[in-house]
Amino acid sequence: MSVAEREIQAVAPSFSLLKLVERKTGLSISRCFQCQKCTNGCPVSDTMELKTHEVVRLVQLGARERLLSANSPWLCISCRTCEARCPNDIDSSRIMETLRSLVEPAHRTKQAHRVESFHAAFLGTVRQMGRAYELGLIGLYKVKTGTYSQDLKLGLAMFQRRKLKVLPERVRRLKEIRGIFRRAEARKG
Ligand code: SF4
Ligand code: SF4
Repeated sequence: MSVAEREIQAVAPSFSLLKLVERKTGLSISRCFQCQKCTNGCPVSDTMELKTHEVVRLVQLGARERLLSANSPWLCISCRTCEARCPNDIDSSRIMETLRSLVEPAHRTKQAHRVESFHAAFLGTVRQMGRAYELGLIGLYKVKTGTYSQDLKLGLAMFQRRKLKVLPERVRRLKEIRGIFRRAEARKG
């Protein structure tokens, strides 16, 4: 039995977290019967402390503290392979997203801060240019995280192979893309 399986067995069930996550995601998480198809298709499963099916089970059981301290929600890349494979149409990326939102900023780990900074930098460049601009993304990410020397060699190699463009490319319908961002922000409240 794995460590996570032992942890799951020791949980005293409570249903408030399940209700909250079901309301926020609109998913019927209680329908999960632990077939593990989500975990078996997840491309980042090996790096997660709690595998996708274990996250779903712990949400059912209401193990809030354990879930909010795990690295799994921060490592999910929202590829939605889990949803495509799930016989109960459970989109675990939405569960992961909801769990991320429940972690108070002051309790976020360095890794969580870096993931958030990456997302913010990526979306920031898309909002400004209408599409991803890798050099701008790298600059914003490094300023936010202070990781100036990390991956320097890799960055130089990519630059030499012309994988990183110096100037950004703008798209023609930039106004429409910025409108999408505004509508998303309005929906978030
Ligand atoms: S694939 Fe769906 S039903 Fe199976 S364990 Fe994952 S969430 Fe549960
Ligand atoms: S959406 Fe997240 S949890 Fe689902 S398969 Fe992709 S990385 Fe794994």
